[in-house]
Order: sequence, then C-alpha cells, then structure tokens
Amino acid sequence: MREVYLDHAATTPVHHEVAALVEEHMLQVYGNPSSLHRFGRRARAAMEEARERVARAIAAEPEEIVFTSGGTESNNLALKGVAIRAGRGHLITTQVEHHAVLHTCEALEKQGFPITYLPVDRYGRVTPEQVAAAITADTVLVSVMMANNEVGTIQPIAAIGAICRERGVLLHTDAVQSFGQLNVDVRSLSVDLLTLSGHKVYGPKGVGALYVRRGVRLAPLMQGGGHERKRRPGTENVPGIVGLGKAAELASRDLPERARHLAAMRDRLTRGIQEKIGDVVLNGHPTERLPNNANLCFRYVEGESVLLALDSKGIGASSGSACTSGALEPSHVLMAMGLPHDLAQGSVRFSVGRQTTAEDIDYVLDVLPPSIGRLRAMSPLYAERVPEAPGACVTEEG
Ligand SMILES: *Cc1c(COP(=O)(O)O)cnc(C)c1O
Repeated sequence: MREVYLDHAATTPVHHEVAALVEEHMLQVYGNPSSLHRFGRRARAAMEEARERVARAIAAEPEEIVFTSGGTESNNLALKGVAIRAGRGHLITTQVEHHAVLHTCEALEKQGFPITYLPVDRYGRVTPEQVAAAITADTVLVSVMMANNEVGTIQPIAAIGAICRERGVLLHTDAVQSFGQLNVDVRSLSVDLLTLSGHKVYGPKGVGALYVRRGVRLAPLMQGGGHERKRRPGTENVPGIVGLGKAAELASRDLPERARHLAAMRDRLTRGIQEKIGDVVLNGHPTERLPNNANLCFRYVEGESVLLALDSKGIGASSGSACTSGALEPSHVLMAMGLPHDLAQGSVRFSVGRQTTAEDIDYVLDVLPPSIGRLRAMSPLYAERVPEAPGACVTEEG
C-alpha cells in the first residue's frame, strides 16, 4: 500500500546527511568531551563545531547555545531557570502554548509564581498591546511561541520583543515549529531565550538547544558536573548534538525554496479538500501561518475517526496535538480560539515536509472525500444538519 506521511509537525524523518554524521560519532568519535586526551578532544571539537552551526543558524554566538534533551527540556530550563533564579516574580504566557510551556507555568504557579495566560483571537494570535498591558513591575519573563504547533499561526514576536526590551522584561520564545520554516534571527526578534528541537527539523530525537542571550542568568534544572557552562550537567549527547548541528545547518540552507515547496504542497491539499468536500473549516490564521500546516475541521465527524480512516489507507496525519490524541479531549488551542466544542473535536492537522510530493497530496485527495462521506453517512449530527450547497466552503469569515 502507498504510504504518505503528513505529520511533520509531530516529528520528521532524519535527513540522511544527519544520520551519517550521527553514526560516525557513535562508532568513531566516542570519547567523553570532558576528557583531556585525544579521544575526548575529538568529541569536544565535534560538539563545538555543532554549537557554531546551531548559533549561525539563528544569528547567535556559540557561547549562547546550551544543548539539552529537546524542546521540552529547553522550555523548562528557560521558564524555571529564570523564575527560580529570580526567586519571585510574575510570568506572562499565552493560552495556546505547547504543554511543555503551559504545564511548566502551572508547576511554577504552584510554587507561588503568579502567571498570566493571555487569551488569543479566533486565529490564535496575541497582540503586542496585550503583552504590554499585562506587564507589571513584578514581571520577570514573557514566553510566547513563535508559531503554533497545532494550527500553525505565527505570533508577532519581533514586536513583542521590542516591548519587552523597552520594559526591561526577558522574552522567551518556543521556536521549535518555526525553525527551518521561517527565518529565526535572535537579534532581529529581540528575544533573550529561544527553544529549538532536533527531531522537528530532520534531526535526531532527544536533543535540542536553548539560546540564552549573553548576560542572562539561569538556575540549572539539575545538579551535577559543570557541563554547558554550569547550565546543564551531564555528559553531553555528542552524536545527537552533532546531528542537531547538521540539521540546523541544513534547516537554514535553501530556506526560501523549501518554504515555497511546503506552501505549494499545503495549498494543493487545502484547495483540493475545499473543492471536493463541503463543510470544511480552515483553522488558524489565513496568511500569518507556517507554510507546512493545514489544520481543518470536517463538520459532523470526529477528528479521530478521520485519522483512523486515513491510517487504513496508509496516510499519517494528526488530530489535536499528539499528546492528547486518543483522549478525545478537544484541543486547548482550538478551545482558546473560541471554536465550539463539537467543531474542535473534528479537527485534523496535516503537516507536509520537504519530501512531500504532488502525487502524495493527490493520493490524499482521492482517498479522503469518500472516507469523509462514509463517516458523515454514519453521523447522527450530519443527518440532523441544516443542509448547505454541496461543495460550499465554510471559512472563518462564514
Ligand atoms: C514538539 C514541540 C515541543 C517539544 O519538543 P521535544 O523535543 O519533543 O521535547 C515543544 N514545543 C513545540 C512547539 C513543539 O512542537
């Protein structure tokens, strides 16, 4: 059976150049980077080259890069690191963050740090004015994601960064989804902390980085040796780090061409679906969105059933976020955007990748309409609906 992977927002296949380098550093460059002998020095050199590659990809300095176990740890280190170092203070975030930020905020809240969760508009956006209005004399950190993992909406980070600088408040952004799709430049964004993950950009799983602007002080999450300038103890994951370095280099190479390809595949899919299937809602911002993301609600059917139908045809997509799928809980992102409960349960996220082809998309467009038709035929909600013109496309505008 043909297989089509359209879940690149959940994870990406490792690039062959990355895999080759990871293998080499597992088998041949096995020294401990802290060892003084040649074996250790070789591993250290490889790790520092990776640090330069990651830094270059986001216009940072190598000493501003801390390697971690992934996006989740980087988000934890940014938020807890700043809050615990400050000892007290108020944090601001949004209602649509990844759980690695939201649940970290909830944990900090239990430890006595007040948190403001900013609401979003129906496209999932916050405004710089909302952030400005929420900043108090006690605010120590603002954390707003660069682009949303479920609906792809891009936040106005540069404008938020300018406000935070002016008010003397640190800004963290989770750039896990935007890296490799948008230009991520820590200087022009005016961010102080920025999260990256390897496996969302054709790199290995279990490795990531946190950009920490020079001069920003963090409490470490763990105690141990003095690795990573005393910010992240433990013998470094050298093969993973080298893989992340290569993935970062590849992610910033040919970025405009890749983004154009992703957008072309994404648009072929959304246009095809809207032409062939009625009662479809496109979630997220119509233009300020990641080039690879299409999040759609198929009215009268549950997202999970659509996923199972697609899976039986060899197609991998996602509903809500991967962490909650299986639980039939509506996504916190769609709920924050004000979607009604029934619609929020019918969402499916397609995320295309660098190797997605027009033939892949056309296969989905052949398979999906009859599947939706079958599911709707079984849906009591569909039988009771007020019928629309066939093929009509419902957008956010109505
Ligand atoms: C995947 C993801 C994370 C978590 O990264 P891991 O490396 O899987 O821990 C954090 N934030 C966003 C926006 C993500 O998409």
